[in-house]
Amino acid sequence: MLSVVGLSFAALLLTVGALTLESNRAEYDYYKYHPMDEISSWMVQMEKDHPDMVTMVDYGRTYEKRTISLLKIGLKTEAKKKAVWMDCGIHAREWIAPAFCQYFVRQILHAYKTDDKMAAMLTNMDFYITPVLNIDGYIFSWKDSSTRLWRKNRSPGPSGDCYGVDLNRNFDANWGTVGVSSNCSSNIYCGTGPISEPEAQAVAYFVGSRKEDFLCFLTIHSYGQLLLIPYGHPNFTASNYDELMTVGQGAAEAIWRVHGKKYTVGTSPDVLYANSGSSRDWARLQEIPLTFTFELRDNGTYGFELPEDQIQPTCEEAYSGALHIIAYAHDKTFNGAAAAAAATLWAVLLAAGVSGANLM
Ligand SMILES: [Zn+2]
Repeated sequence: MLSVVGLSFAALLLTVGALTLESNRAEYDYYKYHPMDEISSWMVQMEKDHPDMVTMVDYGRTYEKRTISLLKIGLKTEAKKKAVWMDCGIHAREWIAPAFCQYFVRQILHAYKTDDKMAAMLTNMDFYITPVLNIDGYIFSWKDSSTRLWRKNRSPGPSGDCYGVDLNRNFDANWGTVGVSSNCSSNIYCGTGPISEPEAQAVAYFVGSRKEDFLCFLTIHSYGQLLLIPYGHPNFTASNYDELMTVGQGAAEAIWRVHGKKYTVGTSPDVLYANSGSSRDWARLQEIPLTFTFELRDNGTYGFELPEDQIQPTCEEAYSGALHIIAYAHDKTFNGAAAAAAATLWAVLLAAGVSGANLM
């Protein structure tokens, strides 16, 4: 009798222990902004929680010698897969961008279990997602209120009395021509040469070494509610400009259906300002067909300091927009051009909550 009671007590202790362990691992809050150490731990946790789907890949080092990592997400198959690129946080102060990359990862890891379309996409393509590319700058933007609006990386300029290169002016795409400054104290300082910066090098080498695999290249920024297509230089037009505009407008419609927010689609010179050396333009020059810059909420009321209560709706709508583009790219490659139109319908159904993809 005593031994049975003892045994039950031991079992009870084990159960309580397990429950405590479970509840101690608090749910990650996707609707708050997180400092870099929490995002790094989250990445490790994603790999631990989904060992069959998620691999963490280190692919570079920042100026201050921090490791740049991405999450490679997909179903393991024997076949050679195509790929989707997404990076967030190339500009330090645009905090909604890393929040979106994390939300996107969570959503696709839930969606594929119930959504055949997502399962097909994760079978045919691997998603390479960098939650924070400009890690040094992001950490600096968390330092105090005086550094909150830092944009660039943290490498020192030629004379050592100013800091930071605008990484989105540093890529090898009409580098140093329009919409840049050669003054290191400028927010749009383009560096001493194309891909002079280690963070830009990391992307250029990683993507460049397997560029024929990538169907889409999505780089996430804020703010302005825009979907920008190549090119930033007004003298150049993408060979698939019409396709990019059509797919972009479909994505803007998918975004609008979620919370009624209007996103404008076009080239940088047409809807924002001319620029050169962006990663989006570089990716298009590598023959990656569908390259877009997302400028998330808002339109300037809060600007880079978007309140946390807007993280969820911003992520929900941008998720629909991103999936529209990704589904189009997928269907064009794997189901033939005719099926690409079906992707539009799927995105609409998804936004309307018909698909299981947004059942959380
Ligand atoms: Zn930006």
